[in-house]
Amino acid sequence: MDAEQLRENAHKMVDFIADYYKSIESFPVLSQVEPGYLRKIIPDSAPNQPESLQNVLDDIQAKIIPGVTHWQSPNFFGYFPSNSSIAGFLGEMLSGGLNIVGFSWVTSPAATELETIVLDWLAKMLKLPEDFLSSGQGGGVIQGTASEAVLVVLLAARDKALRMFGRNSIGKLVVYASDQTHSALRKACQIGGIHAENCRLLKTDSSTNYALSPEVLTEAISQDTASGLVPFFLCATVGTTSSTAVDPLLALGKIAKDNKMWFHIDAAYAGSACICPEYRHYLNGVEEADSFNMNAHKWLLTNFDCSVLWVKDRSALIQSLSTNPEYLKNKASEGNMVVDYKDWQIPLGRRFRSLKLWMMLRLYGQENLLNYLRNHIELAKYFEELVSVDQRFEIVVPRTFSLVCFRLLPPQGDEDCINKMNRDLLEVVNSTGKIFLSHTILSGKYILRLAVGAPLTEGRHISAAWKVLQDEATTLLEQYMK
Ligand code: PLP
Repeated sequence: MDAEQLRENAHKMVDFIADYYKSIESFPVLSQVEPGYLRKIIPDSAPNQPESLQNVLDDIQAKIIPGVTHWQSPNFFGYFPSNSSIAGFLGEMLSGGLNIVGFSWVTSPAATELETIVLDWLAKMLKLPEDFLSSGQGGGVIQGTASEAVLVVLLAARDKALRMFGRNSIGKLVVYASDQTHSALRKACQIGGIHAENCRLLKTDSSTNYALSPEVLTEAISQDTASGLVPFFLCATVGTTSSTAVDPLLALGKIAKDNKMWFHIDAAYAGSACICPEYRHYLNGVEEADSFNMNAHKWLLTNFDCSVLWVKDRSALIQSLSTNPEYLKNKASEGNMVVDYKDWQIPLGRRFRSLKLWMMLRLYGQENLLNYLRNHIELAKYFEELVSVDQRFEIVVPRTFSLVCFRLLPPQGDEDCINKMNRDLLEVVNSTGKIFLSHTILSGKYILRLAVGAPLTEGRHISAAWKVLQDEATTLLEQYMK
């Protein structure tokens, strides 16, 4: 790599990205291209001779950007946010620049040590119990996604149970969670060899705002143990994907403890909010957990990917995931003096992801982060108020963090008709390109989800989004009433 060429080209790329952010509001939030659009405009094979960066940038502008859904647009309200920040971006840039592969300590001591330190910082910001800090038997590790996090802890819990009950007992192992749990858990069970019929996704409803009931869990465990099955893993969620329900951690944790189950908490989205003292109570009960996970890349200004996982007993992970081939042996590892994160995750190779988390924490500071999160929650409150005063709409579940679940509720029509109307509303709203929202279904109701969390979103974007929704609703209602 020629350093001067890098300087020149990287400056051009930074200019390109800065211009992108400057004009981000001019693009349709949801990409409007048809499937297969790109094959028609990109050559069938790679060029034989090098092209200029300018040619490539021109193609990015003309061919790639139209196929991009603009997650960083202030008008992006779909799914959950996926935050970008200057600090996170600079960290990514540096990580790409150094391009180390930090699977064991010796392959880049700074990568391992910074990760351990920064995850201790973040654990303290979340007021996690000391058992999760690296100074004891536990510690934190950065995974790519919450799906990987739940997979690795499920494997650790499975192996622990198999050591206790015998290797042939895998068919008896049972996993518990609510029916609102992210599908990542089911995938983890599939990969981990847990029988599909032993993955209990327990029913929730509006009476608990879609949180898992401890009574329902106790009942399911009693039935299973009476049939000779072995409960071994409980996954609770703080901020479910559909409606940000919060499972009662304390009660669930006690049940897990009484039944000697591994207790995992998935706070992928809402975990970030819990650094604010007024939201920390949603984590009460985390002291009962064996593992806790949140995605800093969702709502904590750290560019994708950065899913942070803490465990109380790191040896459980290491027992399940370590390998020790000759070609990786080294003095520091053999001497048991260091952390080798390859043994805390599925792949061997790993990026220097702690850089962006560290830079984000340093360049913002805790106080600004609290204000950042609070501002989004205030904006969500504002949107909720707008919806509540329009008689044509209803808030379907109470808002807890920065997600508002609502729907159009016409004066007449059965549930099917109302669902169809809301599906149509979402379709027309998203096809305007002005805003992007996603949906869910709860208790048979088709619901629109507006998640505030893009770093550039301000009050004026919320007002404008509401205007788009109201205008499209007016047109739709007129059509339905004809
Ligand atoms: N858990 C929850 C509560 C989520 O909302 C999501 C995604 O939105 C996930 C897990 C999966 O996230 P990831 O893409 O990091 O695997």
